[in-house]
Amino acid sequence: MIKQFVPQEFCIKCRGCCRFKEENSVWSPCLLDEEVQDLADKPGVPAASITLDRRLQPIANPDGGDFICPFLGIPDNKCKIYSIRPFECQLYPFLINLRRGKVLLTVDLNCPYVYERINSQEAKDYIAYLTKHLNSAALRSMLKDNPQIIQAYEEVREVAELSLPDEAE
Ligand code: SF4
Repeated sequence: MIKQFVPQEFCIKCRGCCRFKEENSVWSPCLLDEEVQDLADKPGVPAASITLDRRLQPIANPDGGDFICPFLGIPDNKCKIYSIRPFECQLYPFLINLRRGKVLLTVDLNCPYVYERINSQEAKDYIAYLTKHLNSAALRSMLKDNPQIIQAYEEVREVAELSLPDEAE
């Protein structure tokens, strides 16, 4: 599990994450191959929760208006699979991005918690931790095996450059 920057209590009150404007959103979490398998093996998880391109398939929000992750609890706003939530969910509001042929660590400043703190020492320390973690041999190897995780998100801020997965030993 990745150490979290945003406290869970803040996320539960925020009601920003795990919700999407469109049914087929690029912001819907993309899954590692092993996560697809783990979820597929989990009792009670409908096959329709995972798309063919290895994403969680948003469903209509029963409260109306937008779409939500199939694992978001309504109305408590808690993740129903929090202890085994996908790698991309653990990483957010940070994201792995491909830009100009480089693999970058980026951050989504739509998250109000990180927006307020992005220039703080706390954020600098966390980015240093995350960069070191993502540049470890184990994580580079994981990214090499799961290139679908490296995406071209727009309107996110670059915070660090990561080692390319094909540099993994
Ligand atoms: S799996 Fe959990 S943390 Fe990830 S988007 Fe769905 S509800 Fe949110």
